[in-house]
Amino acid sequence: MKEILGGKGANLAEMRTLGINVPPGFTISTEACRLYYEEGKKINAEVKKQADVKLAELEKKMGKKLGDANDPLLVSVRSGAAASMPGMMDTILNLGLNDKSIIGLAEKTGNARFAWDSYRRLIQMFGDVVMEVEHSEFEHILETVKDTKGAKFDTDLTAEDLKEIVTQYKAIIKKVKGVDFPQDPIKQMYMAVNAVFNSWNNYRAIRYREINNIKGLIGTAINIQAMVFGNLGDDSGTGVCFTRNPSTGEAKFYGEYLMNAQGEDVVAGIRTPLAVSALEKQNPKIYKELVTVCNKVEKHYKDMQDMEFTIQQGKLYILQARSGKRTAAAAVRIAVDMVKEKAITLETAILRIDPNQLNQLLHKQLDPISVNKAEVITQGLPASPGAAVGEIVFTAVEASEKAKKGLDVILVRTETSPEDIDGMHCSKGILTARGGMTSHAAVVARGMGTCCVAGCSDIIIDEKAKTLTIKTKGITLKSGDSISLDGSTGKVYEGKLNTQDPELSGYFGTLMSWSDKFRKIGVRTNADTPHDAEVAKKFGAEGIGLCRTEHMFFEGERIKAVREMILASDLEARKKALAKIYPYQKGDFAGLFRVMEGNAVTIRLLDAPLHEFLPKEKKDIEELSKEMGVDVKTLNAKIEDLHEFNPMLGHRGCRLAITYPEIYDMQAEAIIDAAIEVTKGVGGKKVKGVVPEIMIPIIATTKEFTILKNRIVEIVDRKIKASKLKITYKIGTMIEVPRAALIADKIVEAGAEFFSFGTNDLTQMGVGLSRDDAGKFLKEYVAQDIFANDPFEVLDQEGVGELIRIAIKKGRGIKKDLKIGICGEHGGEPKTVEFCHREGFTYVSCSPFRVPIARLAAAQAVVREKAKAKK
Ligand code: ADP
Ligand code: MG
Ligand code: MG
Repeated sequence: MKEILGGKGANLAEMRTLGINVPPGFTISTEACRLYYEEGKKINAEVKKQADVKLAELEKKMGKKLGDANDPLLVSVRSGAAASMPGMMDTILNLGLNDKSIIGLAEKTGNARFAWDSYRRLIQMFGDVVMEVEHSEFEHILETVKDTKGAKFDTDLTAEDLKEIVTQYKAIIKKVKGVDFPQDPIKQMYMAVNAVFNSWNNYRAIRYREINNIKGLIGTAINIQAMVFGNLGDDSGTGVCFTRNPSTGEAKFYGEYLMNAQGEDVVAGIRTPLAVSALEKQNPKIYKELVTVCNKVEKHYKDMQDMEFTIQQGKLYILQARSGKRTAAAAVRIAVDMVKEKAITLETAILRIDPNQLNQLLHKQLDPISVNKAEVITQGLPASPGAAVGEIVFTAVEASEKAKKGLDVILVRTETSPEDIDGMHCSKGILTARGGMTSHAAVVARGMGTCCVAGCSDIIIDEKAKTLTIKTKGITLKSGDSISLDGSTGKVYEGKLNTQDPELSGYFGTLMSWSDKFRKIGVRTNADTPHDAEVAKKFGAEGIGLCRTEHMFFEGERIKAVREMILASDLEARKKALAKIYPYQKGDFAGLFRVMEGNAVTIRLLDAPLHEFLPKEKKDIEELSKEMGVDVKTLNAKIEDLHEFNPMLGHRGCRLAITYPEIYDMQAEAIIDAAIEVTKGVGGKKVKGVVPEIMIPIIATTKEFTILKNRIVEIVDRKIKASKLKITYKIGTMIEVPRAALIADKIVEAGAEFFSFGTNDLTQMGVGLSRDDAGKFLKEYVAQDIFANDPFEVLDQEGVGELIRIAIKKGRGIKKDLKIGICGEHGGEPKTVEFCHREGFTYVSCSPFRVPIARLAAAQAVVREKAKAKK
């Protein structure tokens, strides 16, 4: 129904059938809007014919005629599309007044002030919206008259004052447009219909649809409705209300109203509105009626309602009802409360919440009150949610130093690189000038749960001078100045804003436990450190789906040993360096096993190309040369030697281990030794059922897998045997090179016990899009609908998804119970989670802060599937 009548029209009609007091009217369908545009912005002849008939019927019903000189019918012409777009399109009130009917209205109601107030409102709205005279022209006249008459509020103006305003309004229209305000009411009506259809494509409306991803609608409907009047005196008024609190969700009637007012006066802020609770004192009878009616509507629609009402001389009318917009906190509370009230089912509650919205609840947030007072100085991509407040620092080293002193810092970089990892870790937030949603900064920050605003092209960072300049504003900030980041919106504020902590128990906890009852797919996390694992466990992670070991190579002292290994001239020296890394790795793995208490832990062996571990800057190279006792020339030669034109397709992942097998040997040892120690309880608590899953990255051929697997199995089996413990482990592979997907059966035959789809690389290689460069043009691709979404954010189910389907079919064809997971950035994206459920994945794995999102999305997938099966 909404598709044809628009949300407003459909609900008005439905409320009338419920016996609610809604002023009568009729709706011109969205289809008419489509025709309007098709026929070159002209109202279709048949539409007009039908509208004329409907108007005649309305006139008959009301016993009044539009523009009648003695007792005129007045109508509103209201926009309303299928999706709610509050305030984005136009509406005109009091239509049908002209120089003659105004006299009739004044006489009939015995209230000249009211009649002239309505007329001046009509001319003002019509002049602005339909005739396109600047709104300020009317405001100026109104203010001037108010001033000369000493009127504080518009309600202080007399009929005579308003009459004078009307004269001036008409004059300004004539002056600006060279034509008169139209006196023919039918002409007024159709001009208004034209204008409302046009408002479907005004800039505001188009932007709103873009931002809210509203697609596929044909246009707005138009509601022509008999007017009721809140401006008839002190026994009349108008207001908006919510059946529950839209910011907290509390089941308490909430709203605002104004007496002797009309339409948008309440929201326009011309007078300060009163809380509806005041109405309870002022007019308890009406208040009670309002609450009763609103509750009835909520019961009917089974959701929190946002409603408009008007009181005309003590009689209540409802003018609109729609599902109210709400914060994430309110959404969760309302859904949970309504299940407990038996108003909705568990299934409905689960479907009611947008999983992505949960993001708002999981992170520290900027306090809304301080946000309202603060100024946005610039905006980038909302790369990793949460809030960060702190002093700006320009290098990772500075970040570490200041953080050690207990200061809150925000790391500001043109872009980040793996060397910045330490500094990123101890920063409250990260701001970069370059890079997209899958840039290094974005991916790492999301993994850490650190707030990040990336790709803020409006800023210039001068690392030497330690300044950050905001181009558009001409503001320059320096080291030590404070800023606040909102990683959920990408907004950057000057100064220190207040923050709020997330609330994970209560209503949120209830919703999560319900989700777990429904979902079939497991939810694991991507975590590289025991700390991240701990956070993820709190959010409900049932294991680790991806531990990236290269991150463990960067921290503090380790990088030295890693560099030593890279620079080693022979195998002997390399082994010596690797032996230094081994204890760190073992310690990290043991930490993860302990946190996960027997839940699966998937460890990916080293994936990064070696040059990532060497410095780039001259200064750093010199420093390293001193430290390692290697001359600068040799060092530069090595760096040159490792340089790759396309590192993403270069010497990385298992390819590295084919050339330097001792690297994976060391990692395999560290993993199994950690498992043995944790099982025995050496150096910490004892854990039962530790099952390491060793995962080999970038496999493209069966031979790569066989060679590396055999080495690992030899080491691991030997160590287990020596330990005399019964430890099981699994060896599997990431499927991230398209070739691997196509020969998945053979990889399983070669002994792979699980697959984990690395969808970042699978997208990069499958679609042929560079993760680091595609950001520049992907926006255009999405705008032109070549891709419905950025394929690095939402899995391309058609193409990359097909590679996945092939791999699953082939893999499970050999081993029926092959464990299948996903560990790319997509693992926490709701649409992708639904895809994984459908395709029979064992689990999804995502960054800690997306675990609850994945849990809810996985439950929704089941609920939707069931609903579909019923049909
Ligand atoms: P929006 O979609 O921007 O809210 P509306 O069509 O709902 O626009 O109308 C704007 C204002 O005018 C609302 O406050 C509404 O209640 C009021 N209004 C609309 N139609 C009438 C009417 N027939 N009688 C009285 N007030 C009306
Ligand atoms: Mg409205
Ligand atoms: Mg990868």
